[in-house]
Amino acid sequence: MKAARLYEYGRDLVIEDVPTPTPAPGQVLVRVEGAGFCHSDIHVIDGDIKVLPRMPLTLGHENAGVVAGVGAGVSSVREGDRVAVFGGWGCGRCDFCVTAHEQLCESPQWAGLSIHDGGYAEYLLVPHERYLVTLSTLATVEAAPLTDAALTPYRAIKKALPFLMPDRCALVIGLGGLGQYGLKLLKLFAGCPIIAVDVREQKLQVARELGATHVLDGRDPEVAATIRDLTQGHGVAASFDFVGSDATLALAVGATRSLGKVSQIGLAGGTARMKVLENSRFEVQFEATLWGTVKELREVIALAESGQLSTIPIERAPLERINEVYARLKRGEIQGRAVITPGA
Ligand SMILES: [Zn+2]
Ligand SMILES: [Zn+2]
Repeated sequence: MKAARLYEYGRDLVIEDVPTPTPAPGQVLVRVEGAGFCHSDIHVIDGDIKVLPRMPLTLGHENAGVVAGVGAGVSSVREGDRVAVFGGWGCGRCDFCVTAHEQLCESPQWAGLSIHDGGYAEYLLVPHERYLVTLSTLATVEAAPLTDAALTPYRAIKKALPFLMPDRCALVIGLGGLGQYGLKLLKLFAGCPIIAVDVREQKLQVARELGATHVLDGRDPEVAATIRDLTQGHGVAASFDFVGSDATLALAVGATRSLGKVSQIGLAGGTARMKVLENSRFEVQFEATLWGTVKELREVIALAESGQLSTIPIERAPLERINEVYARLKRGEIQGRAVITPGA
């Protein structure tokens, strides 16, 4: 089968033939119809986040497709089933795994980011059937981004719901794939006014189309003052930073009211600085959330299947164009999500 593999940080992915895996007992082989190209992959390919335990490795942690084979003992899915694949695989034994927080596992085994190859290949070997969510009507190419681009903001927003209120603004920084789903989910769950910030005109337009109450250009040096004005000096009830740079974290911390919450989702390598009486109000909580759980993925898929959560714009690309997708995403030219379609 064809796979796009990383041989060295900072280099293009190499598309080559590798053996198609055979599912051992308990495992499931999935023909990958959609593999969302995530911004995290840019950080990994560039070597900003050096997490890969071996190379070459097939990246791709946002996958959906069709079951192509099952190992002995697998009973909840069968060949031909269409599935979304939860990618936050864990060891299955540590405290986090046994309490259903596998994505926080102490020895992460994530698809395409650990010893396990990911979905930028025609076939993906899934270690256990519990990672699969069966689809009914949803297209696999739409389901793939839900496993990260929607699941990650879903968890962050769900955990911040006690902080959100209809008469206080929420702040969304960064309108990439995750930020766009974040905005949609906030509208669905929080019912509060939303301030959206980005530094690209096209993304600001997307925020307007998705119904943000206020859309601000992050390049404007007055953006923090404007947020203060829009909240009558109080600040927002919750901030969601989908970028995670020094500048965006400073904006998120400074914009959040007392008793509020700052959620960091993006991993652009920034440091969150919080000093009360200086840049932060009192009793502000900070949390860097990570991905989501299998149960939360079931909830996200249910929202999409029922039509309550509509898809962000999707651009399909064959495996052969994956390096072009990398370059265009890096330049901010992908409108919603680019989904690689290796086995479609
Ligand atoms: Zn990701
Ligand atoms: Zn574990």
